[in-house]
Amino acid sequence: MTAWRSWGRLTASEPAAVSRPDSRDAALALPPERPVLPFGRGRSYGDVCLNGGGVLLHTARLDRFIAFDRCSGVLRCESGVTLREILDLVVPQGWFLPVTPGTREVTVGGAIANDVHGKNHHAAGSFAHHLRGFELLRSSGERRVCGPDSNPEWFGATIGGLGLTGLVTWAELQLAPIANPFMQVRTRRFPHLDAFWELNGAMERDWPYTVAWIDCVASGGAQGRGVFMAARHAAPQRQLPAWREKRRAMPFTPPFSLVNAASLRGFNQLYWLRAREGDALAHHVPYFYPLDGVAHWNRIYGRRGFYQYQCVVPPAVQRDAVAELLRRISRSAQGSFLAVLKTFGTLPSLGMLSFARPGATLALDFPNRGDATLRLFEELDAVVREAGGAIYPAKDARMSGAMFELGYPRAGEFSRFVDPRFGSDFWRRVRA
Ligand SMILES: Cc1cc2nc3c(=O)[nH]c(=O)nc-3n(C[C@H](O)[C@H](O)[C@H](O)COP(=O)(O)OP(=O)(O)OC[C@H]3O[C@@H](n4cnc5c(N)ncnc54)[C@H](O)[C@@H]3O)c2cc1C
Repeated sequence: MTAWRSWGRLTASEPAAVSRPDSRDAALALPPERPVLPFGRGRSYGDVCLNGGGVLLHTARLDRFIAFDRCSGVLRCESGVTLREILDLVVPQGWFLPVTPGTREVTVGGAIANDVHGKNHHAAGSFAHHLRGFELLRSSGERRVCGPDSNPEWFGATIGGLGLTGLVTWAELQLAPIANPFMQVRTRRFPHLDAFWELNGAMERDWPYTVAWIDCVASGGAQGRGVFMAARHAAPQRQLPAWREKRRAMPFTPPFSLVNAASLRGFNQLYWLRAREGDALAHHVPYFYPLDGVAHWNRIYGRRGFYQYQCVVPPAVQRDAVAELLRRISRSAQGSFLAVLKTFGTLPSLGMLSFARPGATLALDFPNRGDATLRLFEELDAVVREAGGAIYPAKDARMSGAMFELGYPRAGEFSRFVDPRFGSDFWRRVRA
């Protein structure tokens, strides 16, 4: 059996078998004695989608649309359908995903299991807030239709449930109406972190999508400088700009990371200097999914792969905690081209293990430099712990069990819903 890697390409995990169910009505093929785990498109960075020694239930063939009401925007599809496939179907008919992460290459099942969030969390919550229901298939063969009003406890456990409560076979989503495929985008530069908080407060009141790119290399008075992007779906236009998707690819994996201290400084400086302030119309694809334009971009980090560190810290301490995180990252001269800072809204998450919660979330990629990188993460963990925050399992490949317990106080309650035949590399790591 060949090794499987997730998006960070860090660890090679060897499942004993990969099963590809091709009907939502079929029973699960469960070889005795081996744990099973659903697998979407492997866009999680760490090991939540890996199952060394076990069986991966790859959902690529659960790819059918079941129903779409173009008047109400209610869509039912199988769990292996990707967000790209949904957009291809619904955008021309005036509908859009109510919440989307920064890539379209994820499945509906994966979006539920990590309860993914997007740039509109402060206005719309996370993916699960727009779920009308789904079917959960357990290893016993039992099927439960779950929704806010039916089997609500299974609904809450499966949302953000990391694929451990069973296989989601289909789901029903409420989409959001749009007038056209374009976004109205406002861009502002801010010279330091204090200016971010002011701008963010003002922008969040009027704009449903907000996010900032932070120069993680800048220090001193410029620490936390960056570019703020606010957006909304464009109003009806008399004439729309022409747009065609350009697809590029990183054709090979270099032996070492192309992201290093020098390229990092250069890129961040250039991005800051070239950012143009103002208002513009942008197609939703480059706005939401800039990285999807380069297939296999994760190869630029070389053979050792990369980590993403994404945390959330509560509102009361977010200013100090984010400043401290950035100070430590800048001092380490590690970090990524694009550090992303966003504040979550106050809508309570529906999942027992949902990551999104009120506060600020910071996300950065780090080339894997072995111990030096892991030592930096220990430092960052200490700041997050002190702040009472949490790390995002979808992006994680190394947090300790203690860190997980602190960030996810309902983990004990959640354990009761874990299917006895299901398991993952992540779950074995944090529950060891
Ligand atoms: C470039 C990029 C940008 C990203 N941006 C964001 C972002 O802005 N916000 C955000 O929240 N996340 C973001 N992510 C993370 C990504 O959205 C999540 O990791 C997502 O869960 C990946 O979906 P997938 O289909 O690839 O699932 P996988 O990564 O294959 O699996 C993820 C989890 O879902 C479970 N699962 C998959 N299918 C099913 C099913 N049918 N039934 C039950 N469980 C299932 C798996 O067991 C696993 O635990 C980003 C990832 C990338 C690569």
